[in-house]
Amino acid sequence: MPFTVLTSKIEHETNTFSPVPTDLDRFAQRILLRGNALATSYQGTRGSMGATFAAAERYGWVLRHPIAASATPSGKVTDEAFETIAASLLAEAHGLDGVLLHLHGAMVTESFEDGEGELLRRLRLAVGPDIPIVVTLDLHANVTQAMADNANALIAVRTYPHVDYDERGTQGAELLQRAMLGEIRPRTVIAKRAMMRGLDGGKTQGGPMRELVERGEAIEAAGKALVVSVCAGFTAADIHDIGPSVTVTVDAGQEAAGQAIAEAFMDHAWETRAYTSANHLSIADAVAHAKAGEQGAIKPLVMADVTDNSGSGHYGDATNLLAAMVAADLQRCIFHAIYDPAAVQAAIALGVGRTGPIELGGRHDSSAGGGPITLTGEIVTLTNGRFQAFGPMGGGTWKDVGPSALFRVGGIDIVLVTNNGQATDLAQVTSLGCDPLRAATIAVKSNHHFRAAYEPIAREVITVLGGGLGSKIASGGTFHNVRRPIWPLDPLEVSP
Ligand SMILES: [Zn+2]
Repeated sequence: MPFTVLTSKIEHETNTFSPVPTDLDRFAQRILLRGNALATSYQGTRGSMGATFAAAERYGWVLRHPIAASATPSGKVTDEAFETIAASLLAEAHGLDGVLLHLHGAMVTESFEDGEGELLRRLRLAVGPDIPIVVTLDLHANVTQAMADNANALIAVRTYPHVDYDERGTQGAELLQRAMLGEIRPRTVIAKRAMMRGLDGGKTQGGPMRELVERGEAIEAAGKALVVSVCAGFTAADIHDIGPSVTVTVDAGQEAAGQAIAEAFMDHAWETRAYTSANHLSIADAVAHAKAGEQGAIKPLVMADVTDNSGSGHYGDATNLLAAMVAADLQRCIFHAIYDPAAVQAAIALGVGRTGPIELGGRHDSSAGGGPITLTGEIVTLTNGRFQAFGPMGGGTWKDVGPSALFRVGGIDIVLVTNNGQATDLAQVTSLGCDPLRAATIAVKSNHHFRAAYEPIAREVITVLGGGLGSKIASGGTFHNVRRPIWPLDPLEVSP
């Protein structure tokens, strides 16, 4: 008898400081797929779901794939969205041999601070104690005891930018197959410290995160644990279980050894908690730097506004950086992007080849990086916003950012999009007719993921404090629900 395996992708990174509710429409704007449409979207692609379909073919599984739901980070997931998505999954949670689930691990719903913990609790209840549940996670997961208790294995990605979902999906499938065959009985333990953030925000180019990932892989290779997962956590979440974690998955009976590994890893995370590789510029300094280098540039300067990063749940419509770029009259420049459905509609009404004024951006909160600005320029391109992403993070999947426009103001090509989303793939601009290789300057809204696609083509990368929602949270975000004491809110020398 072939094994019957349940899989789904249910992802949200919830910024509890964003007032924008994450309802089913927000999921539908990014990914909300079921049944055959889901299979068609992921078969043959790189990523956690693509790897799952490939594994099902390799191992001869009967695969149930009721739902893939992923929304751009934003405010709390509505109860209606959570219950609808959970019901789709749980309706198939019977008569199974195993589960391979792909989650983010930082979902907060209107009713549950720990969305994934609640989902896994219900799933465990439905399938019983003996069916293995293997879960892949984003390394920005705020991992909880409930997640570790109700899943047999937690496998976080090991790269930031996250380019190893395919490998982690394959690893999860192998582990699940061994568990279903009865070769192993995986159990997962977790360690945390009294810290809200650390591990350099999860950056894996160097620093403490990289060191722990490499140590974890050595432990796996030596057979001392089945999986070692290091998560940096997600900081824009006012929840009890915020912060970095290490989970170790071992065969049943080895939990104490696994816990010792997890504790030693978290000791290192604690000791290095203040380490940061960030070196952000002001808008004025960044724009001056761009202006000084644009003449004769044969490769672009890429500058990222880390404070209006929709990938962290920011609004994606801050205008201060763009306004400064326009004022400086930058040339051969691409700006990605202003999330503003109304501005796109104005561009459509104006029409391709026409010139006119368009009011854009700043719709959510003018104190978060600038209010609406009116610019006069030419509508160069209009598209339906669909493109195939072949970059390191895209894996060949189709993206849909909704109706989009390329609006040329002086020497700046401004991308206007209907659905919010950070810069992760060159096709986000090439699909509108821009050639990023020919630009002198490219501005994006992203913290770090943009590097996967944009760093290889850049002559230099800088990061900018644009005054967006990220700045507001960093300077004035008040946390009511986090466990106390906790660093850096409390001046701790040792983790209690
Ligand atoms: Zn992440």
